[in-house]
Order: sequence, then C-alpha cells, then structure tokens
Amino acid sequence: MARVYNFSAGPAALPEDVLRQAADEMLDWHGSGQSVMEMSHRGKDFMSIAAAAEADLRELLAVPENYKVLFLQGGASLQFEMIPMNLIGPGATADYVNTGEWAKKAIKAATHFSQVNVAASSQDAAFTYAPAQADWTLTDGAAYVHYTSNETIGGVEFHWTPEVGDVPLVSDMSSNIMSKPIDVSKYGLVYAGAQKNIGPAGLTIVIIRDDLVGKGEPAPSPMLDYATHVKAGSMYNTPPTYGIYVAGLVFAHLKANGGLAAAEQRNIAKAALLYDYLDSTDFYRNPVAKDDRSRMNVPFTLADPALDAEFLAGATKNGMVQLKGHRSVGGMRASIYNAMPIEGVQALVDYMADFVATKG
Ligand SMILES: *Cc1c(COP(=O)(O)O)cnc(C)c1O
Repeated sequence: MARVYNFSAGPAALPEDVLRQAADEMLDWHGSGQSVMEMSHRGKDFMSIAAAAEADLRELLAVPENYKVLFLQGGASLQFEMIPMNLIGPGATADYVNTGEWAKKAIKAATHFSQVNVAASSQDAAFTYAPAQADWTLTDGAAYVHYTSNETIGGVEFHWTPEVGDVPLVSDMSSNIMSKPIDVSKYGLVYAGAQKNIGPAGLTIVIIRDDLVGKGEPAPSPMLDYATHVKAGSMYNTPPTYGIYVAGLVFAHLKANGGLAAAEQRNIAKAALLYDYLDSTDFYRNPVAKDDRSRMNVPFTLADPALDAEFLAGATKNGMVQLKGHRSVGGMRASIYNAMPIEGVQALVDYMADFVATKG
C-alpha cells in the first residue's frame, strides 16, 4: 500500500509508527480483549493510558509541578472563549497581539467577554511578520497577554518568548506545540488543538498555572470552568478517549526519538531545505519576513497563478497532497509538522524544481 506525503495544515499527518501501533492494538489493547475506543474512561486500563499520556507530555515539555494539564474538547476555538471567561474579572482588560487569521478569531471571541487592547499588530504588512517586543503597547494590570505562537495560515512564527513581567502570558500553540522545547514557566496558560502536531481532532490540550484556576468572575458554568476539569482530572464528563490514547502514542514516539530538542533539529533542517529552495528561485515566493518564517507552515505562490491547478494536479500524481493554500491567502501551503519526514520535503523540492524546469 502506498502512503502519500500529506502536507495538510490539519488534521495533519501522524507518524507511521504510531498509526501501525494503533492498528496493531485496535482489536485488543494489551490483552484486554477490547479496543481503547470501547473502554470505560473510568476503568483502570484507560486511566493508565491517560496517566501515561499526561506523564509523557509533562516530561517532553518539562511542565513544572505547579501547572495542571487538561485534556479537553471543543478545539482551540472553545479556548478562545474559555480563556477570557476564566481569566478576566469585571472591568479588566486583556491584551492581544494580532498576527493574522487565528489571532483575529481569538480577539473577536474575547471581545464578547471583556475589553480587549490590541497591543501590537502586523496588519500593516498583511500579517507577514511577528511584531517586535519593543513595539507592544501593554496595558498596566492587564488580566493577561495573548499571542499566537504560530499563525498556521500566514506561516508566521515567534522564534522568541515574549516578556510581559508579572502579567500571565497566554499562547495559542495549536500549530507549533511539540515542535521544539519551550519554557512553560514563562506562561500562565498554553493551549493547543491536537490535530496539527499531536493527534486526532477532538482533543484539546490546556496547560495552566494553578493560581489561574478558578479565577473567573463571575464563575463560568461548570463545563466552561477550568476549576471543574482540574478537580475532575479531565474526567468531569467523558473525555475524548481515543484521541488521548493516540496523543499518548505520539508522545512516546517523540520520547523514543530524542525528545523535543531532537524534534527541533529535524524541523530546522526540514524548513531550511524548503526555504532555501524557495529563495533560490524567482518562480516561487514566500512573503514572510525571514526571521519570522514558520518551521511548520510554509505558504508560497507561483509566479503565474494560472499554473496553480496544474502544480497541484502534478503534485497529487507524484504522491504529495493537500498543498493548496488557505482560501484567504491563495497559492500553496506546505505544512511540515513533526510527522513529515525530511524525505517528504525533499520530494516536494524535487517536484518544484522539475515544475519550474518544464513550465517556468
Ligand atoms: C487550527 C487552529 C485553531 C483552531 O482549532 P480548532 O481545533 O479548529 O478550534 C486555532 N488556532 C490555531 C493557531 C490553529 O492552527
């Protein structure tokens, strides 16, 4: 059976070893005679799966003890709402950095719950850079500062951690979590939907410093209150059990392959291969400021957009799929998350070079 190189922005490719293991264990997980999908979430088998997934996530990200890890549902989009509901008291302001499509959605959601100050924006250059820290205008006593560490659509990534003093730093890491080590202690809250770089859609990860739990005023209703999920160990209601299981397999796979420092080196090499090629030709163009280019999502345009359809059809014929750019940006986008091997990036570069040679 031939597997394609899947450049989808999400849901995205998963490591082949993980898929094989999930397949092997599909009908009978560890002699239990059941699929993980069929297990009670409160039984000891699934409890051990969830505990191992959390322990491995904590080890990979070096999560300090005073942080809670939550396995929730509702995607990053629900976090756009839960964060202001839980972290903002009456009359307070939240600072947001506007770097593109996902930041805009987070800002729009927050305005339903609180006053929002856009502390910095790259809208002046069509969201093609990450605003420098010196250009952020922060609110004194803000409830938190929110930024999107990787703009999945625009292909802009922060390669540095903002400094915001005592104000909690909140980050949407949906599309670059687990791609490199981070210093969790610099954050009040980190969140990510799983379907970009972790596992199946349906699982959302929240890492929250414990003093920020239960701060919502008025307290949100139970399902929307972090305190509920902390108290119940993410089992207030039925959690996304199969997603947690596959995420756990991905974490174990990352650990067995050198952890996040090694993942970062692989991601640097993959991104360099593609960007170096893009910069070597006038036929393809990536609009993002060089220092802020994403290692995960690489948008690019062809010199002649009339050739887009032919480019995509040829790519598919060569076993490379999901390269069409986001509808808001056009052109192409190659998402090269952890699970994309460098061979896939090399195949794409080879194909791009062949395409220029025959059509350019
Ligand atoms: C995909 C994505 C989201 C939305 O995630 P959902 O799980 O669909 O809610 C939010 N932020 C970023 C940066 C994303 O990449």
